[in-house]
Amino acid sequence: MEIKKKDIRALTKDQLREFFQNQGDKAFRGNQVYEWLWNKGAHTFEDMTNLSKDTRQMLQDNFVINHIKVDVMQRSSDGTVKNAVRLHDDLIVESVLIPTKTRTTACVSSQVGCSLDCKFCATARLKRMRNLNPDEIYDQVVAIDRESRLYFDRPLSNIVFMGMGEPLMNYNNVLKAIDKITSPEGLAMSPKRIVVSTSGVPKMIKKMADDDVKFKLAVSLHSAIDEVRTSIMPFNATFPLATLREALVYWYEKTKNRITYEYVVWEGINDKRKDVDALVEFCKFAPSKVNLIEYNPIDDGIFQQAKSEAIDMYQKVLESNNITVTVRRSRGKDIDAACGQLANKE
Ligand code: SF4
Repeated sequence: MEIKKKDIRALTKDQLREFFQNQGDKAFRGNQVYEWLWNKGAHTFEDMTNLSKDTRQMLQDNFVINHIKVDVMQRSSDGTVKNAVRLHDDLIVESVLIPTKTRTTACVSSQVGCSLDCKFCATARLKRMRNLNPDEIYDQVVAIDRESRLYFDRPLSNIVFMGMGEPLMNYNNVLKAIDKITSPEGLAMSPKRIVVSTSGVPKMIKKMADDDVKFKLAVSLHSAIDEVRTSIMPFNATFPLATLREALVYWYEKTKNRITYEYVVWEGINDKRKDVDALVEFCKFAPSKVNLIEYNPIDDGIFQQAKSEAIDMYQKVLESNNITVTVRRSRGKDIDAACGQLANKE
């Protein structure tokens, strides 16, 4: 009977050290393997060239390294690169490289599909199949770092958890992945360059604050009026704005990190003066800034990007209330770069 081998990346450094000791070898070998796995992003035991051939074979006999494969890579005319990523069990998620003049940002997925059902989102059409493991999140980052060096001659500088899935519904694995990405023995990236973007799960926002996390928080808000928000993000009925607001105030009091609100303005949905006024009020509870994001349509005709006059109105009203606002253009329009669009084409 074939014995199912364990994924070596499920082991902690201490467990790797213990494994080698149990094999009658030096515990230090565990550190070497850990470095290959989490600093150099090795996908085969053959790559581990400072280990003897026998040691590599012994690892091969005992473990596998389940890793992602970039199945389809699309490059947009604006430089955006979108990866359809195949997991070891053949499921597909997406990650995107977004280049600007000064930075390269990786937009990564945290779940296969999503259990939430935001009406404007392509991923919501895929039911949630499973959470990503820490290594599957880490691999997306390594793949994009390699693409950034290849196409733009510079390393990856920023990471946003804004791909498929709700990161706070896979909190433990997201945290473990960020640990590998930020630890000096991993990729040594600064947590200040990582943004976890949530649709707003109040209990988990409080937990993050209690856990004293160092990365930044963004909330996909899209409306500060309960009725409107529930119509486009139905889970708002369970976690209404008052509960979200209370969690955000808690977050700010504990971390002193200001919050970014991601906000799309859609025609006929949230493009009126009352919508902006509600947003201004919402922003007053804790220091925050607003990103107005241009919408990448998902072909159903219901959600259309609002007219530029509405965006101008938002910008003017927010600024006159001393709220920092950035208008972000949509990237990768020619390659279906809205989250979930590529996986939906399978
Ligand atoms: S917007 Fe985010 S939370 Fe909402 S359905 Fe899409 S992936 Fe899930």
